[in-house]
Amino acid sequence: MTFHILTIFPEFFAGPFAHGVVKRACAAGLLEIRIHNLRDWTHDRHRTVDDRPFGGGEGMVLKPEPVFDAVESIWPERGPGRKVILLSAQGRMFDQGVANRLSREETLLLICGRYEGVDERVAEHLADEELSIGNYVLSGGELAAAVVIDTVARLIPGVLGNETSAAFDSFQETGHGEGLLDCPHWTRPAEFRGWKVPEVLLNGNHEEIRQFRKGAAREKTARLRPDLV
Ligand code: SAH
Repeated sequence: MTFHILTIFPEFFAGPFAHGVVKRACAAGLLEIRIHNLRDWTHDRHRTVDDRPFGGGEGMVLKPEPVFDAVESIWPERGPGRKVILLSAQGRMFDQGVANRLSREETLLLICGRYEGVDERVAEHLADEELSIGNYVLSGGELAAAVVIDTVARLIPGVLGNETSAAFDSFQETGHGEGLLDCPHWTRPAEFRGWKVPEVLLNGNHEEIRQFRKGAAREKTARLRPDLV
């Protein structure tokens, strides 16, 4: 799967994709992340990407021309399997369900806003959808794009070493089922500062362990996230 990112801060992404699962998936060719500098599609000496808002008010707005030019030069043709996403606090909420849906796309192009946001014509006439990562306002779409890519990447077949490990994750409809939280996990030592791990996990009875995990996932979901039950 290929991700394109359109940003005025390409260097921002040196960190988020340089570790663990995402880094390995890129090295293995399962994932390609291409970062594009929006300023490459400006034509003035100052490489201007923003301008003052019509109607007055605070802040600056990302201009439409470089954004349209960038997308149309990265993808001269649009079509199924090529989805343009605008990161936006006003978008539909990104969640595990949306991540599963996006993981079945061939390639995505993520537009990162800055300042007061992006000229509305980008949302109306260029992007396929606007996505928000939560009800709070970031200073730019870069962190949101990194969140989306990290979340989607681990759902691509082969990216996680063990194919089933994503199935049992929190919010997945598979695994413990019903989109609950994952069950709690413990590792050695079996006793730490007097706190013992549940006995059933040590007895090697796989059916009992499966039942225990299912119950523990239900119990924790009901306690911490009753909205999911
Ligand atoms: N004035 C806008 C916020 C602009 S923040 C508003 O109140 O809605 C600047 C940029 O950060 C946005 O264009 C968007 O790309 C990004 N951004 C901010 N919050 C976000 C969120 N919750 N999810 C995704 N992107 C976000």
